[in-house]
Amino acid sequence: MDQPLFAPTRCDIVRVALPLPVDELFEYAVPPELNEHAQPGCRVRVRVRDRLLTGVIVERTSHPQFEGRLLPIESVVDLERVLSKAMMEMLRSAATEVLCPIGIALAAALPAGSAPRTAAGYAITRHGRAALAAAAVAESDRSLLEALDRKPRTRSYFSKLGNTKRLEAFERDGLVARTSLLRPAAARVATIQNANVAPGVDVEVTATTLLARAPKQAALLRKIAAAREIPTRSLLEEFPDAARLLRRLADRALVELSEKRAPRDVLGEPLEADRKVSLTPDQATCLKPIVDAIRRSHYETFLLHGVTGSGKTEIYLRAVSEALRAGRQALVMVPEISLTHQILARLRGRFGDELAVLHSGLRPGERLEQWERLRAGATPIAVGARSALFAPLENLGVIVIDEEHDSAYKNDEGFRYHAIDLARRRGKQAGCPIILGSATPSLDTRFAAEQGDVTRLVLAKRIGGRPLPAVEIIDLARERDRSPRGRKVILSTALRSAITQTLADGGQSILFLNRRGFSTAILCFECGATERCKNCDIALVYHSTDQHLRCHYCDFQIAPPDRCSDCGAPDSALLGVGTQRLEEEVRGQFPNARIARLDRDTARRRGFTESVLRGLRDRNIDILIGTQMVAKGHDFPGVRLVGVIAADVGLHLPDFRAAERTFQLLTQVAGRAGRDAAPGRVIVQTFNPDHYAIRPVLDHDYERFYAEELEYRKALAYPPFGRLIRTLITGPDEAKTRSASLALARLVSTIAVDGSEQELEILGPAPAPLTRLRGRYRYQLLVKGPPGPLLRGAAETLVKATAGLASPLHANVDVNPMSML
Ligand code: ADP
Ligand code: ZN
Repeated sequence: MDQPLFAPTRCDIVRVALPLPVDELFEYAVPPELNEHAQPGCRVRVRVRDRLLTGVIVERTSHPQFEGRLLPIESVVDLERVLSKAMMEMLRSAATEVLCPIGIALAAALPAGSAPRTAAGYAITRHGRAALAAAAVAESDRSLLEALDRKPRTRSYFSKLGNTKRLEAFERDGLVARTSLLRPAAARVATIQNANVAPGVDVEVTATTLLARAPKQAALLRKIAAAREIPTRSLLEEFPDAARLLRRLADRALVELSEKRAPRDVLGEPLEADRKVSLTPDQATCLKPIVDAIRRSHYETFLLHGVTGSGKTEIYLRAVSEALRAGRQALVMVPEISLTHQILARLRGRFGDELAVLHSGLRPGERLEQWERLRAGATPIAVGARSALFAPLENLGVIVIDEEHDSAYKNDEGFRYHAIDLARRRGKQAGCPIILGSATPSLDTRFAAEQGDVTRLVLAKRIGGRPLPAVEIIDLARERDRSPRGRKVILSTALRSAITQTLADGGQSILFLNRRGFSTAILCFECGATERCKNCDIALVYHSTDQHLRCHYCDFQIAPPDRCSDCGAPDSALLGVGTQRLEEEVRGQFPNARIARLDRDTARRRGFTESVLRGLRDRNIDILIGTQMVAKGHDFPGVRLVGVIAADVGLHLPDFRAAERTFQLLTQVAGRAGRDAAPGRVIVQTFNPDHYAIRPVLDHDYERFYAEELEYRKALAYPPFGRLIRTLITGPDEAKTRSASLALARLVSTIAVDGSEQELEILGPAPAPLTRLRGRYRYQLLVKGPPGPLLRGAAETLVKATAGLASPLHANVDVNPMSML
């Protein structure tokens, strides 16, 4: 046996977090030759049954808890730790909080694509080494064994040399042994190879003497000499066998080859010129406590609550600058990739290009490169979406989270963290303030400010006294009364004429539609009400299969009533229209306009969003039809009109946050228009002009909306008053999925009451609003109750029970769900 086994008592032991659905650390022995590098925070390869997995060393110890013989770690991946001690501690406690296995949380924090792969290979054995030393091998085999003696090699290395036969013979003789080798990660920092003529070489003389019989090498040498330094790749066209020729020239010391990092343009288009401004008194008031906190290395969470255009970004920039002045680093987060461009331009304008960008739209190699730049301390500013939270910055001076209300900050897979929660943990550790910026803060954050957990700073006015865009609300019910034979109205008269007018003026229009229209809520034309669940106050969803209305929280079901249960009117219909139908309608009405559509489907294509946005900026698009994508943050100077096709669609989604989302979205959309000199017009079409989530949009009255929404949440103990745990159970067979869900419900109901505390409410199981997705049926089970040990216990029970579900059934438990669809 070539590889010695290690007695754990003599040897150090590591506890390793592995990406497995078990919340445990796994113990392995450290072989002496790996002793130096097997340090906490480094990745290792270890054997689990017959698989090799990559995990992270969490700690070293000499006291194993595992009784029995430990396996040795196979290899150490990193020479330096990739996760700092602070980062690992933060991840550990955050993972515990959301009941995520530690290994899965740690894996989420590492840049994707950087985990190495393994390949089959060969290593020389002790026997082989002895044979080499004793010169007991045939001369022809010597070089092969020597190559292996230098380092183990992959099988493909030998097959390229055509030597696999010999290798098999070596293996039979015990000179070499099979092993699995680490291949470099799929993601690699890109380099380019350059060729130079070696110093002191006289090209003409060499070409005519030494290379007289090698005309191709001579030609190549001349070419390189003429270019001084040339990327070798660019030689391929003229010299198809450039690789071989270059090797010859390099062997003769005529040419030098060097690797350089390939510059990659992840920063995007050229920057905006910085605008030097002096702060308004309001801005100065808001900035002061932030600057104080940065100077005192004090953790505090600020809510910067300011309407669009009120100068929030300017405050972010000042805070970043203050952190840099204090010799510390800054992390700036935006909810979506498409929004990074804008903030990047502002940051680059002020701080230059020493920025790292992290988001999932980068290729793995690009991400790794950005990550390495931060780790090496090459740049003090990181910008990015959710995953930028894990940026390896060890001396943070400030963390900015822009558009903090956005649900994209919640990770909905694997490690279900919320960026704000992790940012606050990092802030506490680093002793630095957190700035949460928004024109429409999430109810949770606004409530935390009320509770004194967050410091609220307000910017009530737009910079320069510019007016907020005027919003017009169009009552679709009245519009319908006027239309011939009560036809469904997609574009109201007001919106149609506004588009016509805008086209005539050479302006641009954006038409916005909440695509998550299930077209399933039943709407009363008379009063605009929809049927809601008596228990949950959530919109009931119409199912055409059994022609029933159903509550997706508690599974309450009724036949659709003949008359509106609010006003008694008999006239109702299904609500909603799709983006494609809207596009057809618009094309039909405006045949000569240049029309584009932007939604999540089209945005998935790399570069598509950018090209549409460029089209809009360059005024090659007259009308943009879009979903949420267009509602967020883009600055479009030529846009004079924003139309919201059906505000009700979002309002009646079966989600307790439906009203909050609708208000936020409408306010954001309204904020888009009229940022330029030309006044913008915003037209909102709705059947509910007086709804508390719609009416306050008229005068941008967040506080009025907040007060009403808080009452609604309180009445039914929805967050932030109560807490929700959502368990989503999916499977290809409906009956089995349903019965597994029922079993889970029975299980938690046994612990829902413990006599001492308030009890928990169990809602469902019920089909999830997206009842079937990619061939799988989806059921949801909600547990609602006050935060505390009872709710915690229920969550733990659910996690344990769902981990035991047999494939193809699958379930996950979200202890603080953001999306309920
Ligand atoms: P927000 O982030 O709240 O939408 P911005 O910071 O982008 O607001 O400010 C809106 C506009 O006002 C920007 O063009 C910005 O350059 C400008 N601005 C911000 N602060 C000032 C200031 N103190 N004086 C003059 N212009 C300012
Ligand atoms: Zn219900």
